[in-house]
Amino acid sequence: PSPVYVLGVRVDRLTQSQVLIALKEVLSSSHASCQQIVTVNPEFVMAAQQNTVFRQCINQAALVLADGIGIVLAARFLRQPIAERVTGVDTLVELARLAAEHGYRLYLLGAAPGVAESAGARLQELVPGVQIAGTYAGSPAPEEENEILERIRSAQADIVCVAYGAPAQDLWIFRNLQRIPASLAMGVGGSFDFLAG
Ligand code: UDP
Repeated sequence: PSPVYVLGVRVDRLTQSQVLIALKEVLSSSHASCQQIVTVNPEFVMAAQQNTVFRQCINQAALVLADGIGIVLAARFLRQPIAERVTGVDTLVELARLAAEHGYRLYLLGAAPGVAESAGARLQELVPGVQIAGTYAGSPAPEEENEILERIRSAQADIVCVAYGAPAQDLWIFRNLQRIPASLAMGVGGSFDFLAG
């Protein structure tokens, strides 16, 4: 089905298993630049009303997932239903499974110092064999971008998960899409904190 637009913000109408297929496609096809995944909740839709760049960022993404029952309800109200919500943390675990299966390497960027390391360890418990290419708290400040991109490059990552909170994480990915040395990047909000426990 075609995407639903909630107050001008695109949301793809995919079930969890269709998301998995779409993730596989994004990871296996060769694109000139990194592909972005955004998980949209009602706060994203509200923020995108004032912030045009954030709306462009969401609407251009390779995949826009409905993270939150509020989005599922809005889609139903618009008579373009979405079967189920797809959370950021579930998607991160699915990405880890795909990564383990195909030998892709995950880079965990953001969150407080130490949190991404713990989240990586937890992912390796949940998904044996998944390779964590690297972790780095850093910050979304533009002055740090070159250094962070160099860290990702030297870690030889394929998938970059960014936990700088919304919209900072998604805008960070969006403005660096042409430079991120990986196939796929996703904003993951509080997922590292959740996994780290
Ligand atoms: N975060 C960060 N740097 C920042 C802002 C946030 O590393 O400048 C991290 C924060 O530690 C947390 C994650 O971003 O791990 C998500 O933050 P929050 O829960 O506020 O965002 P949301 O889940 O609401 O998008």
